[in-house]
Amino acid sequence: MLLTLRASGPHAQGLGYLLHKHPDKLQTYPLSAGRAHVFYPQASDDAVTAALLLDLDPIALVRGRPGSTEGGLLDRYVNDRPYIASSFLSVAIAQVFGSALGGRCKDRPELVTTPLPLEARLVAASCRGGEGLARALFEPLGYSVTAERISLDERFPAWGKGPHFALGLSRECALREMLAHLYVLIPVLDDDKHYWVGEDEVEKLLRHGEGWLADHPEKELIARRYLKHAPRLTRDALARLVADEGSDPDADAEANAEEEAAIEETVSLNQSRQTTVIGELRRSGAKTVLDLGCGEGKLMQMLVREKSFERIVGVDVSLRALEVTRDRLHMDRLSGRKAERISLLHGSLLYRDERLEGFDAAACVEVIEHLEPFRLGAFERVLFAATRPRVIVLTTPNAEYNVRFASLPAGRMRHKDHRFEWTRAEFETWARGVAERHGYGVRFEPVGPMDEALGAPTQMAVFSR
Ligand code: SAH
Repeated sequence: MLLTLRASGPHAQGLGYLLHKHPDKLQTYPLSAGRAHVFYPQASDDAVTAALLLDLDPIALVRGRPGSTEGGLLDRYVNDRPYIASSFLSVAIAQVFGSALGGRCKDRPELVTTPLPLEARLVAASCRGGEGLARALFEPLGYSVTAERISLDERFPAWGKGPHFALGLSRECALREMLAHLYVLIPVLDDDKHYWVGEDEVEKLLRHGEGWLADHPEKELIARRYLKHAPRLTRDALARLVADEGSDPDADAEANAEEEAAIEETVSLNQSRQTTVIGELRRSGAKTVLDLGCGEGKLMQMLVREKSFERIVGVDVSLRALEVTRDRLHMDRLSGRKAERISLLHGSLLYRDERLEGFDAAACVEVIEHLEPFRLGAFERVLFAATRPRVIVLTTPNAEYNVRFASLPAGRMRHKDHRFEWTRAEFETWARGVAERHGYGVRFEPVGPMDEALGAPTQMAVFSR
């Protein structure tokens, strides 16, 4: 397993001081199940790369797991652990780069907080949740992420790609921040910690998560996976993370959204919803798109990456949600054409708004169920009679599927703010009525894993005229 850390720019040489490792030497450290080597493949004036190579011993790994025969004897000796980024790498980071992770640098203390253009590369990462998860974890922290699926065997291209990714993470920040993110998030990506997790692991999570985890949109998933799905530890960690936030309606809305995300098993459904909606928008040929009820901007973040969209406008009634979106999209750092391409509007979908007219397409993802049923008429008039984009992609939960969510008590809705959740028949009746009244055609698509009897967790209507 190989991790490289590259610093560039005028302070690049600071990397050696921060890591407390001399660029001219190869240094080796013993680990519980092997060895770690540190060396520098590159050390010039304006770019320095340090490499941490883990040399894990598969026999020592098995010795560390007495009695475990899960997967059979062969699996105990032959597995991906020595080759991929996992909790072993986090342990090595803490042992070998402990001073850098703790923010200590005797010789050059000013470097500890100096932002450097940094790039981390993990040659092989296990990423349970795919590229989408890697992005969901690192992008909110400001990283540019590249994720490339690795071929099973370069000599046999026909075998296709394997489950592992080569990950690149770039960002300008202090090294200690990047190391803390890697330390926490590598085992989260892998979701298979090699050691027993107890109370002290909550302390570690909070210590290394300080300053970023409390505001991370995936903090629930991060805490859960980091703590090996132990429900009590995860609850404790999350309670302590939000303890200082006080309570206000917007924060409650966030907590509710998280609960909904947890019930819907977070990333996967969210993601397939977003990719499906974006696919529809792309295929419609739209150049200008609205994200109505954009919330915290997760869909916007993906829309921005699609070159074919020339103008993207998010609308929401919650200022707080818009602020999160603005930060997520780094809007205050954009200029010129990039800045003109994206805007956020504070407004309600229940009142006609001329700023929203003249767009090719609109997404309205998981919004209508937040409206009081008696306001649906106003929503319909505003969107389908006044705003009238050529294509409207609208999603809402399929209530029939709720019995499949193990953590959702019978009869409850997925989110405390939902005013209703419709069956497929209810949604289709409403949508066909709307389409007919306003001269649109409509088709329905399931989103997420299909249950033969209950349908998919999310239902989508695509209206076009
Ligand atoms: N589309 C986002 C957010 C869904 S949550 C996503 O899929 O993640 C519903 C969003 O609708 C919230 O952000 C809420 O503030 C917004 N919303 C609710 N009523 C609204 C209204 N009348 N006008 C505009 N936005 C509204």
